[in-house]
Amino acid sequence: MKKRFKFRLFWVCFFSAFLLIVNIYGEESLFKPEIINSHLVQKVFSFIEKNRENIIKEWIFLTEIPAPSGHEEKRAMYMKKQFEACGLDKVFIDSSGNVIGIWKGSDRGKKIIMSAHMDTVFQEVWEIKVKRDGNLLKAPGIGDDTASLTNLLWSIRALKQAGFRPRNTYYFLGTVGEETGFIGMQAFLDAAEEKFDLVIALDGDLGKVHYGALGFGGGKITYRGPGAHTMQSRGIPSPNLAVARAIERIYKIKLPSEPLEKWTILNVGMIGGGKVRNAVSQESYFTVDLRSAGQDELERAQEMIRKICRDVSSELNVKLEMDLNEDSKAYQIPEARESFLVKTVVDILRYLEVKDMEVDPLGSTEANVGIEKGILSVNLGRTYGRYKHSLREEAEISGLFLALKQTLLLICCLEQK
Ligand SMILES: [Zn+2]
Repeated sequence: MKKRFKFRLFWVCFFSAFLLIVNIYGEESLFKPEIINSHLVQKVFSFIEKNRENIIKEWIFLTEIPAPSGHEEKRAMYMKKQFEACGLDKVFIDSSGNVIGIWKGSDRGKKIIMSAHMDTVFQEVWEIKVKRDGNLLKAPGIGDDTASLTNLLWSIRALKQAGFRPRNTYYFLGTVGEETGFIGMQAFLDAAEEKFDLVIALDGDLGKVHYGALGFGGGKITYRGPGAHTMQSRGIPSPNLAVARAIERIYKIKLPSEPLEKWTILNVGMIGGGKVRNAVSQESYFTVDLRSAGQDELERAQEMIRKICRDVSSELNVKLEMDLNEDSKAYQIPEARESFLVKTVVDILRYLEVKDMEVDPLGSTEANVGIEKGILSVNLGRTYGRYKHSLREEAEISGLFLALKQTLLLICCLEQK
């Protein structure tokens, strides 16, 4: 009896130690350098190289289909056709306008979403012509996020021609309305009956990996008073002074820069008030851009801003109107940084010698919607580029090929989980 008890005690201790170690060091990366020499990876990589010009051609073609948020239909039709031609198991456009292509795996596999957004921010731009200049492509939307749509299509084609049979089930999504608040991804996940294991959003600069969702809590603060000519202004409440006093105090709020999961920052980007120099203003305002990785920190900072603004309002006897955003919340998945997914992605980027790597929980891509729903999610970058969201946007061709390898390697690694 005693011996048996000791025996049990040994195993209890052994497993506790094991669990402790797993907890401290998190999960393991699925990337092993040997995978590069595997038949599958060699085949998909050489397919990509062989099709270099075709890939660039289609990237240009896709970019020249205008798709401002809310008008993605043409791109959606093209993506749907291509998904069908790839031979995916189920292809459809949902009620929001997202294109979905499902590649079925086995029942034991994971359910993985891989998305790229179809919409661009260029609302009134209906004629797009891509300019090619050495390693650069130039056009509005060339990088954000058309490079990732191209990445999705050619990843699927490369895997298909290599005879890949997935264990996981992949949901390839071309989404709508990313630029106007992740509308497409939100609608898709809200309506989905399936339980997804991972969300991988192809968006953002190459090398930037975000595993948490940044919250936005800023807004506009306006002070109002009766106004008066300078000559009659003694004792008259000044909205300009209120703005100045409030801003001074707001900048004194202590905001954490670590741990990263609580990282918070603010900036007063706009300020204005008054119409003429010889009168007290009747209305003055300023804006606050407040961002945090931690929802509690976001709410704490908002509470302090509110208190400061109210205090100033009563000290200076000016009316206050405050509008702070409460809809864009911050979300974090506990231990996401130590998860197999983030570790695998980091190892892949290191293997590919991707420069300017940044791995943090400060994401602002469609992966945020997955994180909000408690699904382990990251974004993967699309290429290197400049002047995003401007008409002179540029993207590097070589960067897309790195991004393609990144996506293909990740799929190959995820098959081992
Ligand atoms: Zn984007």
